[in-house]
Amino acid sequence: MPWLDPRRWKLWSLPPVVLAYVVTVVAAATLVTLATARRTPAEAMNWPFLLLLAGGAVLHLEAARGIERIREIGAEGSPHAHMQSVWLFAGVLVLPMPLLVALIVISYTHSWFRVYKRRAVLFRKVFSAATVVLGSGVAQLVLGLLPDRSLDVDGPVGLLILVTAGFLYWFINYALVVTAIYLTNRHNPLRTALGNASDVLIVLASVGLGSVVAVLMLARPWLTPMLLLTVLALHMGLLLPQFRVAARTDSKTGLVDATFWHDVAGRELARARRLVSTVGVLILDLDHFKLINDTYGHLAGDRVLRAVADALKHSVRSYDLVGRFGGEEFAVLLPGVSTDEVRTAAERIRREIAGLRIAVVDRLGHDQVITGLTASAGAAVFPGTATELSPLLLAADEALYQAKNNGRDRVATATVS
Ligand code: GH3
Ligand code: MG
Ligand code: MG
Repeated sequence: MPWLDPRRWKLWSLPPVVLAYVVTVVAAATLVTLATARRTPAEAMNWPFLLLLAGGAVLHLEAARGIERIREIGAEGSPHAHMQSVWLFAGVLVLPMPLLVALIVISYTHSWFRVYKRRAVLFRKVFSAATVVLGSGVAQLVLGLLPDRSLDVDGPVGLLILVTAGFLYWFINYALVVTAIYLTNRHNPLRTALGNASDVLIVLASVGLGSVVAVLMLARPWLTPMLLLTVLALHMGLLLPQFRVAARTDSKTGLVDATFWHDVAGRELARARRLVSTVGVLILDLDHFKLINDTYGHLAGDRVLRAVADALKHSVRSYDLVGRFGGEEFAVLLPGVSTDEVRTAAERIRREIAGLRIAVVDRLGHDQVITGLTASAGAAVFPGTATELSPLLLAADEALYQAKNNGRDRVATATVS
């Protein structure tokens, strides 16, 4: 077990600035923990709360384990939005700091063994637990402004204090993680480090739900088990189907796979038919990608694929669907766009790919930065180009080959057949 041997920790291979940053954050969290360690739980009620929240966190993760694993891989290079915030932020509101740190440690240790162990790097998880401790500490300072610890938040001032605490809990955590990701890989665009907006929303919603859990726990402790089950059921019923998308993802790039993309494209076409709307499709293929593999090795090639996938996701709207068709070929589904808009989107993607600077390690173990990537794309639009999915995709594919034949690094639009 390499993570048990400090000499083999990946931590030591970090650049000095990042190492100093990580050590500082973890040390600060340790100091906060030690400084508050003597504050013993004031009420006997705290222990059952700790048990309930830890139970909620553990059950929640167990229920979503398979999907969490895939999401963790997909989040590589971006902050990982884990939904444990419901339980942790409820803990911020009802537990004294030492018990809260215990809750955070329980939750992270559990995820380490059940989800992350084989895939993630230990120091990253320790670091991320430390950011949660710091965020919680600050949130509790803000909550200290409330008249008493009974979470009597009635009134605008109470609300403001609660919202500020929740916001700081999230923001400190997020800012510390984004800084770490950015420091580690400055060649990647800051946007990748910022992650995507829907992940941020999931965490913020969890924080909000955590407040409700906490308020009810204090006011009506006997309702707590019902509340825990409700939150779990809500998660399983509403959020997981969303994340099941992740179960259809290609693990190399975190994009959806071809089958899933196809399913969704079929449904979008049916919807567009009903609404008398349009659907644009783009098929993209990286130019001379074999050369990247030959020059830098396959692993570097994989790294490039992931960076391109991220660039694709970031240069389209949140409801456009980017899929990996196979190899270095991608497809983008753009509901409701005109032919001109598909072309504009394709050009934006092309520029984005051309601007990538991707840090890789080549076959000889040397650091290299890959730049100047180009891609060719074929565009087609329903119902202008074709009225069924297969001919639509064929037309986009045909256009892609035109783009290749005309010298690559360009977008071609399918002609109406
Ligand atoms: P062009 O498209 O411009 O004609 O040239 P190309 O070199 O990109 O040619 P083609 O699309 O035919 O080749 C795709 C190459 O992509 C071949 C294969 O080595 C590489 N490739 C496919 N899948 C993967 C993968 O998952 N990882 C890596 N590293 N390389 C892959
Ligand atoms: Mg190619
Ligand atoms: Mg290809």
